[in-house]
Amino acid sequence: MMRQFELVERVKSYDPDADEDAINRAYVYAMKMHGVQKRASGDPYFSHPIEVAGILTNYKLDTASIVTALLHDIVEDTLATLEDVRDLFGDEVARLVDGVTKLARIQIQNMEDKQAENFRKFLLAMSEDIRVLLVKLADRLHNMRTLNFISAPAKRRSIAMETMEIYAPLAERIGMQEVKTELEDLAFAELHADARTSILARLRFLELHGGDLVVKIMDELDQVMRKGGIEGYVSGREKTAYSIWRKMQIKEVSFEQLSDIMAFRVMVDKPEDCYRVLGIIHTSYPTVPGRFKDYISTPKRNGYKSLHTSIIGPQRHRIEIQIRTHQMHEVAELGVAAHWRYKSTDLFDKDTNTKSVEGRQYSWLRELVDILEHAQSPQEFLEHTKLEMFHDQVFCFTPKGDLIALPRGASPVDFAYAVHTEVGNTCVGAKVNGRIVPLRTPLQNGDQVQVVTSTAQKPSPEWEGFVVTGKARAHIRRRVRDDAHAEYLKLGHELLEKTFSKEGLALSDKGLNSVLERFDVDSVEDLYAKVGEGRLVGREVLVAVYPGTRMDGDDNIVNLSQARLKQSHEASGPIAISGLTPGMAMHVAECCHPLPGDRIIGIVTDGRGIEVHTVDCEKLQEYTDSPDRWIDLAWDADKDKDAHIGRINLVVNNEPGSLGALSTVIARNFGNISNLKISKRSTDFFEMSLDIEVRGVKHLTNIIAALRATPAINSVERARR
Ligand code: MN
Repeated sequence: MMRQFELVERVKSYDPDADEDAINRAYVYAMKMHGVQKRASGDPYFSHPIEVAGILTNYKLDTASIVTALLHDIVEDTLATLEDVRDLFGDEVARLVDGVTKLARIQIQNMEDKQAENFRKFLLAMSEDIRVLLVKLADRLHNMRTLNFISAPAKRRSIAMETMEIYAPLAERIGMQEVKTELEDLAFAELHADARTSILARLRFLELHGGDLVVKIMDELDQVMRKGGIEGYVSGREKTAYSIWRKMQIKEVSFEQLSDIMAFRVMVDKPEDCYRVLGIIHTSYPTVPGRFKDYISTPKRNGYKSLHTSIIGPQRHRIEIQIRTHQMHEVAELGVAAHWRYKSTDLFDKDTNTKSVEGRQYSWLRELVDILEHAQSPQEFLEHTKLEMFHDQVFCFTPKGDLIALPRGASPVDFAYAVHTEVGNTCVGAKVNGRIVPLRTPLQNGDQVQVVTSTAQKPSPEWEGFVVTGKARAHIRRRVRDDAHAEYLKLGHELLEKTFSKEGLALSDKGLNSVLERFDVDSVEDLYAKVGEGRLVGREVLVAVYPGTRMDGDDNIVNLSQARLKQSHEASGPIAISGLTPGMAMHVAECCHPLPGDRIIGIVTDGRGIEVHTVDCEKLQEYTDSPDRWIDLAWDADKDKDAHIGRINLVVNNEPGSLGALSTVIARNFGNISNLKISKRSTDFFEMSLDIEVRGVKHLTNIIAALRATPAINSVERARR
């Protein structure tokens, strides 16, 4: 175990200004708090945080990171609280410790590739400060180094799996290649101990018999390049046991058949040089058929570019060679981070004086790799190196723990559609972290979302106002359109029935079929829908089917609304309606807000379905010239269980407590205020309009009466315009 003064000395060696006192205090505090706790190895527990801090000194991390490493398990595993840490070590350390603690609480099971990928992103997003992640990775590295002390095989295995699937790729992502390789190797040793042992034995055997093959082959390749007149940089290495094993798995070949236990790379300046190098290699050595791949003319989806070929190379060894430019190499090494859009200020390419998209994407990562490799003053950089690239995403969980990645601002409805289209189509509510929330609530990172569904539910057009994913929007639109079409169809049918029966004439499919062409529709259904939408007037259809009928009918009436009401009641009675959904075929007019109990009239608008008005609405005057647009409607009180919005205008005294009195009166009368708008405010009065959820006109009338009886309220009217 590293001793206190050793740790301090190591930090001081690369950071003379390090806060010695803070490190000493953290060391002592961790020791005190972990007390007699023991690790599986039998070592005192506090040896672990000290080793983790030690690992981080290899990366020349700042004081706050080292202190955080020392304290990283203290909140989770001892009596110390985050407040204690804040009091003793300040805000910055408390924030970092909190981040590491939160990451530690996330349980990860084995998962599918895509899910694992999402999880890596999630961890990145959760650790807003890159230092949180660095501490976490060092923590994992030390736990893996001491994995063999854990006695339960199942537990060892699950930790190794998690390391392989989540932490090693995560280390790779942030440029800690060395940590990645060690994590992989340790996990591999646990998961496939036998395979690893035999691969290592074989490599040692080859080494013994071939000397330093890698260097020999590199030298020869280098000479071949020079002879061909190419300035290239040749590199080579022996692959790790784990990567050899992976190749063996993917290609289903034995170790003897495996050609590429050594990897070679030639890097040049220009893309055209890549092909020249390829030509030189292919004329110098026999090629292995079927192994050539041109990812320069056809790059991989992540932007990877390179030429790959396999040859029977120097010393008669089968080797794989990758040929690329330096720039392609950089993208290959950092390119996995292509979608980590780092929100840095615009970077300008000095040569072309243009914004460099690539520069923007990779800059932070280059910077980070720089810091990790040769930082002079770690704090300076790290302080500002935040993981902001996921500022545009949130990661949420299903109750089973599946991870769903969504754009920032996504609602439970987006979540529901992301889980499954049917879940979206039938969602009625959502519980976020166990609490019921409105469907429009924006989700936060780490939220656990449970969608409540009901087969009776249909997507509401209102959802379109707050969903952010294309999938949700498309499905809502489609369902709303289908539903609206069904409504139009039904409505058109009823309208035609009425028009025909009023004249004592029969409405038959046969009759309608004979006029389809004339109205430019393909089916009787489409004809109904066209009438329902108001793009065609019922009477026109009547005249077409029975040419003897007069077009103007008997609509020469002065008091139109009253007369039509009477007339259509005599004909076949009003069309019964129940809940009115905004955006659907039938909808409440904004001017008069009719409620169940009001006498109502429908106006067939041009292509927007039917607008429902109260009989006394002033707006009806605009339609006196088009009587065919008028439809008699009545509320179907039995079917209607929905709340309706009633709108009232009020003048309220501008004095303390009057708004309180207002809401109390409404609540006592079981109304629910859904919107409030103050239109005017003087020293004496407020003028405002209120939307209240009510059962019907009677309910609203009661509320208005109660408000009129309230002293703080000057006047109340039902809104008419
Ligand atoms: Mn730990």
